Amino acid sequence: MQNLFRQIPKVDKVIQKFKDYDKEIISKITKEVIEQLREDIKNKKINEIDESRVLKIIENKYHDILTPSIKNVINATGVIIHTNLGRSLIDEEIFERAKQISTHYCNLEYDLDKGKRGDRYHHTAKHLSFLFGSEDALIVNNNAAAVFLVLNTFAKNKEVVVSRGELVEIGGSFRVPEVMNASGAILKEVGTTNKTHKKDYINAINENTAMLMKVHKSNYSIEGFTAEVSFDEIIKMAREYKLLDYYDLGSAYVPKLPYSLSNYEPSILDIMKHNPSLVSFSGDKLFGGVQAGIILGKKELIAKLKQNQILRMFRVDKITISLIEETAIAYIKKNYDKIPTLKMLFTSVDELKKRADKFLSLTPSLRAEIIDTFTYVGGGTMPNKKIPSVAVAIDGNAKKWEERFREKLVIGRIENEKFLLDFRTIQEDEIEKLAAITNELLSCGVRV
Ligand SMILES: *Cc1c(COP(=O)(O)O)cnc(C)c1O
Repeated sequence: MQNLFRQIPKVDKVIQKFKDYDKEIISKITKEVIEQLREDIKNKKINEIDESRVLKIIENKYHDILTPSIKNVINATGVIIHTNLGRSLIDEEIFERAKQISTHYCNLEYDLDKGKRGDRYHHTAKHLSFLFGSEDALIVNNNAAAVFLVLNTFAKNKEVVVSRGELVEIGGSFRVPEVMNASGAILKEVGTTNKTHKKDYINAINENTAMLMKVHKSNYSIEGFTAEVSFDEIIKMAREYKLLDYYDLGSAYVPKLPYSLSNYEPSILDIMKHNPSLVSFSGDKLFGGVQAGIILGKKELIAKLKQNQILRMFRVDKITISLIEETAIAYIKKNYDKIPTLKMLFTSVDELKKRADKFLSLTPSLRAEIIDTFTYVGGGTMPNKKIPSVAVAIDGNAKKWEERFREKLVIGRIENEKFLLDFRTIQEDEIEKLAAITNELLSCGVRV
């Protein structure tokens, strides 16, 4: 072991071998790597030192530390709101305006009329309230924060009545009972998994009840012998018993959706017609903006949310404010082309076929066929509701194709033992790039 310690390369010597590299960075990395070597020798994890391997490790670490880890991929899965691949895309023009706002000073918290401190939330509140027909609106970091803030503000140490059928867990470990617990609210579960009735809510109400809450069943559906209480009935009950009603919608959509998706859930505009106390949803699910939690509701309730110190921890930056504001304006102008999430959903199957054709014409030696398939909206919206799509199904070993494409940052999916590139989510300006990648894989003689 003593011997091994003596074989550890000297820092100065190593640095000399990296002449064209930044000296400070390389020496920091070298020290780290050598320290690790010492540890490994001490713990008997290694029994020889290969200097060229040590140099290679240092070189790799150097490049790794100077290369961003987050990078673009081509989403060929067909799932539009793909939580793992960044959920909603932002329109370039909308992003350009947000860039202008955030690369220069702005009136984020400055009242230009009075020449003094202003409120950062009034920018988005104006547009969101107009769009959704609510008295007021507030945005926070994400919808999870919105749920927490609402519960903490109005139901700390008080009971919140929720149906057992709606105690959801969504991806990234957001669990309604746990969020509620963390917020200080007391969960009062009512009904059963498959059936909850009005009387279940009413029987649960006591002097410590603060709120009747409904939670969207984002990633599952309950079928068969079922009953649930609609939000408008919950609103009526809440009014009768002088309680608050709150709907954690998860996702919200504005215009009527294609493929009969609007038959499964009401639009946010329909929900707002019932004049609820509070609703909240994500800024980057079907709304198609950017990560944020959008809270709509009565003016005096939003004012109370603003007085909660916790809001300071959930507050959004100017870049989010600008993006949400621009997205809301696009909705007000019915400029749905500016909402990439909706644009993808509304693209016709014929158009997707044309794009798949174009791709195949650019990849003449690819053995593949265009197929009709189905995909999902994703991101905890419209669970289990299939929407038609078009894919290129590639001949050969699906698992190997999946790996090869993934190495080139193209994420597809395997179905019926075929590797598919689904055109529902491949952006128009990515088709040529995708063809070039495919041709490169073919020319490397990828054996599949
Ligand atoms: C997605 C979702 C959330 C969390 O929203 P984020 O914006 O991801 O924080 C909360 N509740 C429901 C019902 C959801 O679907």
